[in-house]
Amino acid sequence: HVKAKGKDGYRFYSDSMNINTANRLNLERDLRLALERDELRVFYQPQVCSTTNRVVGLEALVRWQHPERGLLYPRDFLPLAEETKLIGLLSERVLDQACQDVGRWIRSGHPDLRLAVNLSPIQVEHPRFVETLMQRVEAHNFPAGNLEIEITENVIMNDLEQISQKLRELASKGVRIAIDDFGTGYSSLNYLHRLPIHTLKVDQSFVKAIRSGEDGACIVNAIVAMAHGLKLEIVAEGVETDEQLEYLRGLGCHQVQGFFYGPARPAADICKSLGQTPARAASF
Ligand code: C2E
Ligand code: MG
Ligand code: MG
Ligand code: MG
Repeated sequence: HVKAKGKDGYRFYSDSMNINTANRLNLERDLRLALERDELRVFYQPQVCSTTNRVVGLEALVRWQHPERGLLYPRDFLPLAEETKLIGLLSERVLDQACQDVGRWIRSGHPDLRLAVNLSPIQVEHPRFVETLMQRVEAHNFPAGNLEIEITENVIMNDLEQISQKLRELASKGVRIAIDDFGTGYSSLNYLHRLPIHTLKVDQSFVKAIRSGEDGACIVNAIVAMAHGLKLEIVAEGVETDEQLEYLRGLGCHQVQGFFYGPARPAADICKSLGQTPARAASF
């Protein structure tokens, strides 16, 4: 079963990730080398205010610039990184790079610019997660109030006691907490008002279901209404069309993110567009 293209149109690392052990071992060896050779890259996707069209945040998304295979996406190597414990090192690199890049932009005239980073369940479950995270952030002099961590519902439900402790600690330091892919996980709505959550990210699948005159949008409607009621900020993911944008704007969805405004890009590209007004009229 050859799956030629991923959901975003890019190729898988190989025809099937779980094919044979030899390939796995190659990939694992390559990934170790990649960390040594500094082949990981952090790309940034803008999070745009739906009313002002201004970029309010950047989500850091890891890429691997493979010497032979070209640019690889998280789905091609994150699962393996998680299985082999390389995820700790990988995450540290991403956080370091992102704090450096976005920290620089924050200090050069964009004081409110937010950095959103994705965290792996394995990271969050680590007993010294909060300490480790804050150490990195402080080492870069990155303002904690500009940082938003993205975790999924499953991470929360896995160990509610432990996680609430950790999230409280982070929140008390000013770090914001977002629920990624909201609505797709195994969860209970109960935690939403018991935990220090700041942002819900509506999963792309619900945004895709927005079509005028159809009832596919009812889940987006419900999520946004609930977020309003709970005074949570709401970010819609995977916004690709003008129609989706207009619909979400009409609902009062605070921020949008997606190919409509552009995919994740290297720091140099983001840097160039800082202060400018790029295509689609999003600006910093
Ligand atoms: P996510 O956090 O839900 O990120 C959104 C994904 O959707 C990204 O894929 C992004 O490039 C893609 N996307 C953005 N806009 C659109 C759009 O308009 N249409 C469509 N079809 N897709 C869009 P990407 O970069 O491949 O990342 C996939 C997942 O990998 C992320 O999902 C996140 O869970 C994980 N990930 C990425 N970077 C990191 C990282 O540094 N650490 C960890 N732990 N996980 C990461
Ligand atoms: Mg995310
Ligand atoms: Mg998501
Ligand atoms: Mg995801």
